[in-house]
Amino acid sequence: MDECRKITMVEYIHRAKAKIKEALLSSELSVFNTPIDFTTSTTGFGGIRHWFLCPVCKDRKGVLFLHPISQEIGCRTCLGIEYRTQRYKGMIEEK
Ligand SMILES: [Zn+2]
Repeated sequence: MDECRKITMVEYIHRAKAKIKEALLSSELSVFNTPIDFTTSTTGFGGIRHWFLCPVCKDRKGVLFLHPISQEIGCRTCLGIEYRTQRYKGMIEEK
């Protein structure tokens, strides 16, 4: 052996991030066993934020839900899911 192979944590995280991004954007991942589209937006600091695309309204959403009765997948608004105990906190987090 000439040289030990090594991986630094920085390289590892970099590689993992690339893989995660690839997986996210390839739509091979599914949510609740249903393919869901993903999108990104840039943050003010040059970073990238990943989002679900709600299959109903096509809006960027950080959270998707599976309706317990209709089995429909969508954002809170589309599925008409209301907050009960966390209404105000949730309203701020919605977008
Ligand atoms: Zn929606």
